[in-house]
Amino acid sequence: MTTISNNLQAVRNRIAAACAVAGRPVDAVHLLAVSKTQSGACVREAAACGQQAFGENYAQEGAEKIAELADLNLEWHFIGPLQSNKTRVVAENFAWVHSLERLKTAERLAAQRPIHLPPLQVCIQVNVSGEASKSGCAPAAASALAHAITALPRLRLRGLMAIPAVTDDVVLQRQNFALLSALFAQLNTEGLALDTLSMGMSHDLEAAILAGATIVRVGTAIFGERQIRVFN
Ligand SMILES: *Cc1c(COP(=O)(O)O)cnc(C)c1O
Repeated sequence: MTTISNNLQAVRNRIAAACAVAGRPVDAVHLLAVSKTQSGACVREAAACGQQAFGENYAQEGAEKIAELADLNLEWHFIGPLQSNKTRVVAENFAWVHSLERLKTAERLAAQRPIHLPPLQVCIQVNVSGEASKSGCAPAAASALAHAITALPRLRLRGLMAIPAVTDDVVLQRQNFALLSALFAQLNTEGLALDTLSMGMSHDLEAAILAGATIVRVGTAIFGERQIRVFN
């Protein structure tokens, strides 16, 4: 077995164990393999082990990999900060966007999503730990943004995403995830049919699954340390 295949199995085992602790069925949590900075060959290796969904942070890097690996029919998720001048590349190449935080970006994606593709699946990124430097909309702004997005064509609002401040404090990790989870429940009582909570990475996926994550985004635990590569 290769390293990637071993790592992937270890991550699947962690997800299964966390689901057991949380009393949730194992198929309630989907694994998104975050392949940013990793080569197409690494993605191919993970795909050969049955991994279907991959996450990329940089529009151009992602688009190049998607073209290179088109024969594999993978599902590509854009999870990085989304600049206005990159929305077209994302709208034309990806199946999902996890990192929507502004209506203006959503409107651009809606206008640029090609008609021959299914609607773009989107999540709103919420800044749950409140640091000024982090991206994501304020929790108090999420409801209005969510309702506005559901009125747009060519987009399908699926849920919420967060990248809490990195901490080894499990209590703090759970608090941040619980905040996103409570917001998700609140939006659903407002009539939004959300089914996706994208939260949890290599170091905190257990806490996220306990709090209700339906997608965990895992990079280093699958592919190892990230490569230093320069993309334009
Ligand atoms: C890089 C990244 C991940 C994966 O992080 P790891 O700690 O390597 O698992 C998940 N989500 C986002 C938004 C990322 O940028």
